[in-house]
Amino acid sequence: MTAAGSRAISSVAGAQHQKVGLIGWPVAHSISPAMHNAAFAALSLPWRYDLLPTPAEDIESALRGLEARGYRGVNVTVPHKQRVLSCLDEVSPSARAIGAVNTIVVREGRLAGHNTDADGFLASLREGGFEPAAKRALVLGAGGAARAVVYALGQAGCAVLIHNRTPSRAAELAHQMRRCGTGAPISAVPERHGLPGVAPDPIDLVVNATSAGMQPAVDASPWPERLPLPAHWCIYDLVYNPLETRLLARARAAGARTIGGLGMLILQGALAFQLWTGQPATLEVMRTAAKQALVLEPAP
Ligand code: NAP
Repeated sequence: MTAAGSRAISSVAGAQHQKVGLIGWPVAHSISPAMHNAAFAALSLPWRYDLLPTPAEDIESALRGLEARGYRGVNVTVPHKQRVLSCLDEVSPSARAIGAVNTIVVREGRLAGHNTDADGFLASLREGGFEPAAKRALVLGAGGAARAVVYALGQAGCAVLIHNRTPSRAAELAHQMRRCGTGAPISAVPERHGLPGVAPDPIDLVVNATSAGMQPAVDASPWPERLPLPAHWCIYDLVYNPLETRLLARARAAGARTIGGLGMLILQGALAFQLWTGQPATLEVMRTAAKQALVLEPAP
């Protein structure tokens, strides 16, 4: 647990704790404990957020044992977001459509799965000043985060083009998301075109949902240096460590609107917080704690 997380817990020490946590493998460098424990402390809630490192072979027994161990819920992270679906009693329609769960509520012996990444992404996009309705987005990536982003944009009425390093995964994701019936056109960049073939298209928004540029490989970028980044585009990078990635720095220098991934991290966390506690989280407290934790523990 981070120093910030421990400090936040100690402020409500003595009370009987309700527990939530993070299931993933590995989880040691997550900043979620700092963020959530600060939010619990700010509302004087006797809750605690733990790290629950869980290898794939233990996932089902870990989930089934949560209530007996006093847990009211968990977040789920890489690599289990898709795998947990088959272990749950209920799954929200959006988590089912996305095919991934990042938040589980434990209540009366039942496990209910949700996906707060999609709504957290949309809220942070709008907070950053970009309204996606009737716009056209290029999403880079086809992993778990890209699934939530493509679904969210489709729901918001934004046309989506998907590009991925492994093109077959982009085509598969586009096919699955079209079947969700969001109503918005969703397609994959044809393999023969690649990114250079996309650039002349009337794009409004580029979302990096790959891990390129994340600590420690901060010199990487999912956008080739030889391709321009027009000033009228909005560039959203889900990577939040570093706060400004190489892609965002280049886009900012080109005069484009830029939005980093910290806002999504905070907002998806706040939605999970509300699902567990029934109370809205204080966003500024979560943001400050998350930033402090990133400074204290910069490299995952
Ligand atoms: P994931 O399921 O492992 O998917 C990784 C994706 O990145 C795949 O599409 C992969 O392509 C691509 N990729 C990896 N390295 C690349 C490189 N060097 N160049 C180009 N593409 C590359 O991971 P995820 O859960 O989707 O997470 C993706 C990123 O989003 C991570 O950085 C994560 O921290 C971030 N994220 C942020 C938030 C937030 O709240 N801000 C929430 C969720 C995730 P292939 O298919 O070819 O392997």
